[in-house]
Amino acid sequence: MNKKTLDGNGATAYVAYAFSEIFAIYPITPSTPMAELCDKWASEGKPNAFLKTPKVVEMQSEAGASGVLHGALTAGALATTFTASQGLLLMIPEMYKLAGELLPAVFHVSARSLSTHARCIFGDHQDVMACRQTGFAMLCASTVQETHDFALVSHLCALESSLPFLHFFDGFRTSHETAKIEVLDYAEMLGLLDERALAHFRNRALNPDAPVCRGTAQNFDVYFQNREACNPYYSALPDIIKGVFKRVGALTGRTYAPFEFVGDENAELIIVMMGSGVGAVEETVEHLNANGKKTGLVKVRLYRPFLATEFLSALPKTCKKIAVLDRTKESGALGEPLFLDVSATLKTDEARKDVAVIGGRYGLGSKEFNPACALAVFKNLESQTPKHPFSVGITDDVSGLSLDITEKLCFSKSDEIACKFYGLGSDGTVGANKNAVKIIGDSTDLFVQAYFCYDSRKSGGTTVSHLRFSKSPFRSSYLVENADFIACHDPSYLERVDMLSSLKTGGTFLLNCPWEKDELSSRLPAPVKRQLAQKRAKFYVADGTKLAEEVGLKGRTSAVMQALFFLLNESIMPYERAVALLKETLRSTFKNKGERVVNANLLAVDRASETLENIDVPTAWKSAGLKDEKTERGYFADFIRPVLRLEGDGLPVSAFNADGSVPTGTTKLEKHGAPQLLPKWIKENCIQCNQCTFVCPHACIRPFLFSGEPQKGFDGIPAIGVKEYTFRIQVSPLDCMGCGVCADVCPTKEKALVMTATHEILDAETENWKIAEGLKRVDVSQKFKRDGVKGSQFFPPLFEFSYACSGCGETPYIKVLTQLFGERTVIANATGCSSIYGASAPTCPYAKNENGQGPAWASSLFEDNAEFGLGMRLAYDFRGENGRSVWIVGGDGWAYDIGFGGLDHVLSLGERVRILVLDSEV
Ligand code: SF4
Ligand code: SF4
Repeated sequence: MNKKTLDGNGATAYVAYAFSEIFAIYPITPSTPMAELCDKWASEGKPNAFLKTPKVVEMQSEAGASGVLHGALTAGALATTFTASQGLLLMIPEMYKLAGELLPAVFHVSARSLSTHARCIFGDHQDVMACRQTGFAMLCASTVQETHDFALVSHLCALESSLPFLHFFDGFRTSHETAKIEVLDYAEMLGLLDERALAHFRNRALNPDAPVCRGTAQNFDVYFQNREACNPYYSALPDIIKGVFKRVGALTGRTYAPFEFVGDENAELIIVMMGSGVGAVEETVEHLNANGKKTGLVKVRLYRPFLATEFLSALPKTCKKIAVLDRTKESGALGEPLFLDVSATLKTDEARKDVAVIGGRYGLGSKEFNPACALAVFKNLESQTPKHPFSVGITDDVSGLSLDITEKLCFSKSDEIACKFYGLGSDGTVGANKNAVKIIGDSTDLFVQAYFCYDSRKSGGTTVSHLRFSKSPFRSSYLVENADFIACHDPSYLERVDMLSSLKTGGTFLLNCPWEKDELSSRLPAPVKRQLAQKRAKFYVADGTKLAEEVGLKGRTSAVMQALFFLLNESIMPYERAVALLKETLRSTFKNKGERVVNANLLAVDRASETLENIDVPTAWKSAGLKDEKTERGYFADFIRPVLRLEGDGLPVSAFNADGSVPTGTTKLEKHGAPQLLPKWIKENCIQCNQCTFVCPHACIRPFLFSGEPQKGFDGIPAIGVKEYTFRIQVSPLDCMGCGVCADVCPTKEKALVMTATHEILDAETENWKIAEGLKRVDVSQKFKRDGVKGSQFFPPLFEFSYACSGCGETPYIKVLTQLFGERTVIANATGCSSIYGASAPTCPYAKNENGQGPAWASSLFEDNAEFGLGMRLAYDFRGENGRSVWIVGGDGWAYDIGFGGLDHVLSLGERVRILVLDSEV
């Protein structure tokens, strides 16, 4: 047995690899890393526990993957898959077959929400709960350690029981939480395997030497009886599972049961739940019981089959009231599934008939569930008239179901060090923190916990890393709210995010910024100054961006900031040792990128301390800006801004449209801030070709025509072809991503666009953009063809300021599509990049023209996009609205769609529906 620092996906993949011969896979977030790891190990020839290298097959869809799995098991190979969300739902038909034919498949699922009113890649139990009727046994792991242990139990039990297993854990919580855990080596795991069960499985393989016919068609006379014939297998399962729990426990020292009770042995108020939330409840139970309450928690480990006797014996006899927490939603049902199971179970026991049961929902789409939520549930439970059904963790001012959270609870351990890091998607912060945690976990006796929050945008979104270190293991499966150390890697967050509300009094704040010491008072927003002073924070600044550029790592501050983290946290590890380990990690991380990159990173670490400055926080900052603050109202202030400030958790249910729709044309309100370089227009060199604006992926640079005297600074050159007007190219500096594509494409010998240091032109160009926005559009369609490069650019882009990656190669096509047809366009969007940059709430880059017309946008599922668009076309034709132009827009998901229906099938829609294919592989 070894100690390793792994996340839940890594721990599960490690075990799955041991006992698998065939992996049938199809990627879906957040389960993809499990499949990728197994694929990588197989490609390297790594042997499994049977000393053979498994075969990994990637299919065209989850439906295909489950079909391969079925075939592999039928032919006698141990087969496994990894999936989540709608991907798991696509496997449901095959799941019935696997269970019906008594095949020991194992599915490892990082449980994720489903696409309903919106797509959400984050965690809950909606997907796995949709499989509870398939005949699979279902085991739920709550921690990273348990993913390792329950993956093992699943593979062992599947073989011994001849029944398929679904092992699941909370997606984007447990799946992506890094922790130090104990792992068994493959020889130890193999020692737990029942050889006879393996031989029995092999003997059942379809074999022409001893042929059978499986999967027949049956009529009404025999189907029912045969369906009941599997019952003994399910009856035998409880003892098999308990036996395997015991064997694994004897080896690891960790004992599990189908249901486990923790709390006061005379508990009267009990929560029943499964998944990562049990950690928060367990901490709350300890706290309440230490204060004289009698509370407890039943952790559900084995959800299917639901063992009534085991549940009842886990429940203390003193139990008076139970709150069942479900991480799923079944609209229209009597209650959520676990609530119904518990209610039905209590009815089987005469002695428990007076126990009151209520049910509530929590944690959908990874909504935070912490001790304050658990406390609210216990308070509801102990009230004279408990609310049922209820929800917790949100404010539901529409149906009134939510519980009030009245107290903030925080259970950090006495030796715990908690840290938070704010970075920009793809700036290296998350990767650097993963390295830091691994260094600390593997090289000290500390237990570590790391969790990373990011939104679905591939770059440019905010990332928040939550790290904890302590001498004992963690149960706190929720975000850090009381940090000893907070680092901000991008100064633009100071205005946008309230970072310091979670800093402990006396904690440390490290800010990466380009400002001199004497500039700080004017640069820092008043709320930041106030909190620094009020919390008596230790405040440090560093210009990591400048240093990174000096050492040849432009835009990649992570090595500098990581070194500074170690420098300011020597209580975790002496700095010299940390630097040595950090350098070792950087060497191995960047070895494939060449010596130059490795050396630049090492130099960044060596020079990091040069850039660090300690700032005395003036006492006067305690009341900074209090009298100047204004309250704004409106859609941006009330909805968009809270979400952008990472305060969306506080929005009530009434803030949303019930069908999930949002207004278009709102990215222009975001103003993420200017990049380091902006394109500067040199009018003398411009030939008015409009190529720069044609290629800008973010619609941030545009041609303007105006007449009359130029306003201050907003001048231009005589417009070619329309001499009564003046022509000007104008950038929107606060929306520009600084990619430089416009300047690159400018065809003139002496460039008419030059990327320029932002501080030189920011103020002037910000004013100029405001003037440009106020100009009335000039219709020059009689002079320049709308479908030409130049003429199209005089039409406003109805797709603007998207959060696609800087310099994206797809978005210019969508932009020009909206310039050509935008006012009559309807889009059926595939899943992939184009749906993320096209519709990531709360803002929408699709815009409207001066008449209020613009693209209407919707997406259905990953697998039915072309058909979705065809349905729209048929509807508009039927309704006589033939002027509508229905476009199917596809990003990377598009390629997969073609895989579903076949290229011919999709292209056959082309007669009726226009298709914009954005994937270079297609
Ligand atoms: Fe557009 Fe990039 Fe040029 Fe900015 S730098 S205007 S984002 S092409
Ligand atoms: Fe002028 Fe260059 Fe833009 Fe052409 S690409 S319009 S020359 S700035």
